[in-house]
Amino acid sequence: MTTRSDTTTALNRLLAEIEHRNPAQPEFHQAAHEVLETLAPVIAARPEYAEPGLIERLVEPERQVIFRVPWQDDQGRVHVNRGFRVEFNSALGPYKGGLRFHSSVNLGVIKFLGFEQIFKNALTGLGIGGGKGGSDFDPHGRSDAEVMRFCQSFMTELYRHIGEHTDVPAGDIGVGGREIGYLFGQYRRITNRWEAGVLTGKGQGWGGSLIRPEATGYGNVLFAAAMMRERGEDLEGQTAVVSGSGNVAIYTIEKLAALGANAVTCSDSSGYVVDEKGIDLDLLKQIKEVERGRVDAYAKRRGASARFVPGGRVWEVPADIALPSATQNELDEADAETLIRNGVKAVSEGANMPTTPEAVHLLQKAGVAFGPGKAANAGGVAVSALEMAQNHARTSWTAARVEEELTHIMNDIHTTCHETAERYDAPGDYVTGANIAGFERVADAMLAQGVI
Ligand code: GLU
Repeated sequence: MTTRSDTTTALNRLLAEIEHRNPAQPEFHQAAHEVLETLAPVIAARPEYAEPGLIERLVEPERQVIFRVPWQDDQGRVHVNRGFRVEFNSALGPYKGGLRFHSSVNLGVIKFLGFEQIFKNALTGLGIGGGKGGSDFDPHGRSDAEVMRFCQSFMTELYRHIGEHTDVPAGDIGVGGREIGYLFGQYRRITNRWEAGVLTGKGQGWGGSLIRPEATGYGNVLFAAAMMRERGEDLEGQTAVVSGSGNVAIYTIEKLAALGANAVTCSDSSGYVVDEKGIDLDLLKQIKEVERGRVDAYAKRRGASARFVPGGRVWEVPADIALPSATQNELDEADAETLIRNGVKAVSEGANMPTTPEAVHLLQKAGVAFGPGKAANAGGVAVSALEMAQNHARTSWTAARVEEELTHIMNDIHTTCHETAERYDAPGDYVTGANIAGFERVADAMLAQGVI
């Protein structure tokens, strides 16, 4: 009989091996650590999961593609970026996950995102495997024509690896409707096929789903609302701090307002805005979605209620709930201490791995409800899977129908995480609940499908 401590020892040995075999990939090590450190109870309780090689297969991507992406800027200068697609696990369905275009992208970042995506996608219950891709290309400050040429070059290599039944990319940081449009156009041109289900996040009118742009932010607020309900409260009248000002942050702020909460911050890499009257969404959307500008412009145009704090972090603004919606490791131990001191009740991750492990432990120890990204931000990929379903049936659903499905899915994920945590003696620990519930679904499929 395997005991919990034998299992923990074996998992620690495996983690050391992961670090050794994947040098210079700190984000991937962190993501693997965060999952594996919670799995000992389930592996000890269910001997089939201790089968040699199961976890080893889970932490090794099925396929990793790295390619050259040459393109010309408006002055005719040639740039050479690097493209990635990590096809991590397809036990539950075609690889599914976004593309990130940002200067910080490297193989380790894409592997951490792809690894998280396996469990997130499993939690949706929608039959999608895990993958992720992207490039160290930064679209900021580039003209539409430059972005188009980059996307065309990127897809000229990527097209051979993807397909509606193989691998279905979507957006992530730096990849929105504009980029998906250029990528889809090039895929269609090269393959001479109308294959709507090859990418999600498409424009409405050519295969996109209503509510897909809103889904990650809306879903995260629904998850936060479910955590608050569990504590006997709701979002009405609560003050929220939100970081970021991209797609996730914008629709987080929108849904908070719809549920009666007040989001008072947003941010970008230059600093943050605090608006005591609550963020004016029309102004923020105009600056970010139309003008593709920075958040300091918001403070300048909003008037007396708002100010811009250069270089600061939103976590210093007192709030009842915090929704990190920018990027990885943006909320550290010191930030967690500040949030706790200011009486935060819930933290729900709209971004992928925005909270450092030390900060997660501190928040949980202080009794703060903590929703990990792989559960809390699964609404985006869930609606992507609904987009695939609509494409397959050659139909499109109303916004009300998509939103109703999204609400069911987020509530189901919350219940699954909550119940799984209780089952493994970790009541209220959504991290353990999400990891174990996601793991069980993937591991069961991998065991049934043999050693591949
Ligand atoms: N990039 C999003 C995520 O982190 C969405 C992925 C998708 O829609 O495939 O889950």
